[in-house]
Amino acid sequence: MSVPELKEAIGDRLDHIRQAVPESVRLIAVSKQVSVEAMRVAYEAGVRDFAESRIQEATVKQEQLQDLTDITWHFIGHLQSNKAAKAIAQFQWIHSVDNLKLAQRLDRLAAELNQSPQICLQVKIVPDANKSGWAVPALLADLPALDACQHLKIVGLMTIPPYGLAPSDTLSIFQRTHDLADQIRQQTWSNLQIDQLSMGMSDDYPLAIQAGSTMIRLGRILFGERS
Ligand SMILES: *Cc1c(COP(=O)(O)O)cnc(C)c1O
Repeated sequence: MSVPELKEAIGDRLDHIRQAVPESVRLIAVSKQVSVEAMRVAYEAGVRDFAESRIQEATVKQEQLQDLTDITWHFIGHLQSNKAAKAIAQFQWIHSVDNLKLAQRLDRLAAELNQSPQICLQVKIVPDANKSGWAVPALLADLPALDACQHLKIVGLMTIPPYGLAPSDTLSIFQRTHDLADQIRQQTWSNLQIDQLSMGMSDDYPLAIQAGSTMIRLGRILFGERS
């Protein structure tokens, strides 16, 4: 697509999304497999939060978009431990921290790199072999150790419902994630402050908002289908 065509398509989609999303919900543009030209168009239209799921792809794009200094970069993919330092150096947010060992590694690296990344803990409300993340009892058991990760700002829960559920079941997963955050907040922690809910994608974001999402991660509905 030419830049004028991109402008029209992305502008129209963004208008539509903004009408459906309250101002209090943070709109994160998922730009994996999206060209930097399309990202610039979204930026021109006011988008400042971009999410990537692969470090390598993100590194190339961040270099090409260096002049856009006020972008907030979010990492949303499965993070391998050998990429943890890059994730900390290049992203202000990591939504997909999915196990304690990774959190502890990020904590050490954050101290070394003098960074304090914002972190969401990825949780699986129901079993899902296709996704990583803590099961609820395992997460509750790991909370004291996570609370000790002082160099991380652990501020939220992230969830992705299993693919293909009925809307009512998807809504229930989002509500249970919301309730889990409430439950965690009721305990006293020195570091954990779970007041963000990263949930909702192109197909289910209205349900996520209904359940109290604070950050929606939208790809296809903003940029069109990925090739
Ligand atoms: C790809 C992706 C999204 C965006 O998905 P769409 O269906 O394109 O909106 C959101 N979150 C994560 C973790 C993703 O990997």
